[in-house]
Amino acid sequence: MANIQKPKGTFDILPEQSGLWQYIETAARKVAALNGFSEIRFPTFEYTELFDRGVGDTTDIVQKEMYTFSDRDGRSMSLRPEGTASVVRSIVENGLVAQAMPLKLYYIGSFFRYEKPQANRSREFVQFGTEVFGADSPYADAEVIMLASALFKALGVDEHISLKINSIGCKTCRADYHAALKTYFENKKDGLCDTCKGRLETNPLRILDCKCPECKAIAADAPKTIEFLCEDCSKHFEKLKACLNDSGTKFEVDPFIVRGLDYYTKTVFEFVSDIGAQSTVCGGGRYDGLVKQLGGPPLCGVGFGMGITRLIAVMENANALPAIDKAPKLYFAPMGEKAQAKAFELCGKLKNSGIYSECDICGRSLKAQMKYADKIGALYTLVLGDNELEEGKAVLKAMRGGDNIEVEINADKIISALA
Ligand code: ATP
Ligand code: MG
Repeated sequence: MANIQKPKGTFDILPEQSGLWQYIETAARKVAALNGFSEIRFPTFEYTELFDRGVGDTTDIVQKEMYTFSDRDGRSMSLRPEGTASVVRSIVENGLVAQAMPLKLYYIGSFFRYEKPQANRSREFVQFGTEVFGADSPYADAEVIMLASALFKALGVDEHISLKINSIGCKTCRADYHAALKTYFENKKDGLCDTCKGRLETNPLRILDCKCPECKAIAADAPKTIEFLCEDCSKHFEKLKACLNDSGTKFEVDPFIVRGLDYYTKTVFEFVSDIGAQSTVCGGGRYDGLVKQLGGPPLCGVGFGMGITRLIAVMENANALPAIDKAPKLYFAPMGEKAQAKAFELCGKLKNSGIYSECDICGRSLKAQMKYADKIGALYTLVLGDNELEEGKAVLKAMRGGDNIEVEINADKIISALA
């Protein structure tokens, strides 16, 4: 029988890569903490209704990309395709909406979308996401944007990623905009793809997000959201630009960014990299109506989702992969029963005092042990045989340069020799 393979569009993170993932996650947690964001964790699946209502049932994500199934009680469940709807559900359900504002949260986790797998696009992918609730000023938008920038800088890829911002307005200005958009596309209806013909009726804004070349060409001359902003939205956008300029954050206004989720209002933004296909590393924006729409108080929000695989691709491209040291400081190579027991005991003591050491547990020959110690990059090896045990002394053999050190066979002495 053929061996079972992983599902299409998923990937394993093997030991040789997991250090890089931890490095990125640590950097993300650090920059989040520095900005006062606390971690929130939420279920991997939710009632499908949450995403229908939260993400929007005219979005591609909900219409085409969700992993939806009935559980054994016949309830419709979906694997989470994004984080914001779940975060909002959670803060409403757990009463966090009544806490002192702003409420600043972040998450790191897997999300699931039934998409055509290709470079930097998988069916299970990991996002680092942030959300700020209860702050309607553009400074909140600037804070999340600058948090993402700070992470790119910490990872050494800031020169390879550029920020694009736009404003898609609020309910007030969107009515006029939708009408203008509809008129524009009605006249060019025949050139649109079948999906977009449908979008014309349900949500014309989605046409601007269509990936097919014919629709893209038509959309290029469509009315722009920023031409229709009401006074409040316009002021918000101008202030955000001023904040970013004042803080030295480079950006470009891109009127074509509309984002693929229905809940955005006012600010939307993307960080785009130089990796070619699927180059958007991070996308986000403001969603002032979402909390209320999901049954909470009228609390505004702003946040982003950042794809870690794409971030890794940018780091690779920028030669910014860190050197990750997983080598033990000391490798014990015992010969014989008695030495094995002693080496195992000493090794345990070293680990208890925070020194990464290894001791043979495979019962290999001395030659094979030395070869293995070299392979895993041990800084020192300590050969322990009957002679050494009798004399009470052994040698810390330097494997990576430096001098050999003679030590008494005693954990404290070995620890201080290695210090
Ligand atoms: P795209 O236009 O590439 O489909 P999106 O607009 O659907 O992206 P968002 O929902 O904004 O993406 O998610 C934020 C980020 O999450 C993206 O910028 C990307 O880095 C990452 N991401 C989204 N979908 C995938 C996927 N299928 N595989 C890998 N990363 C993804
Ligand atoms: Mg997508």
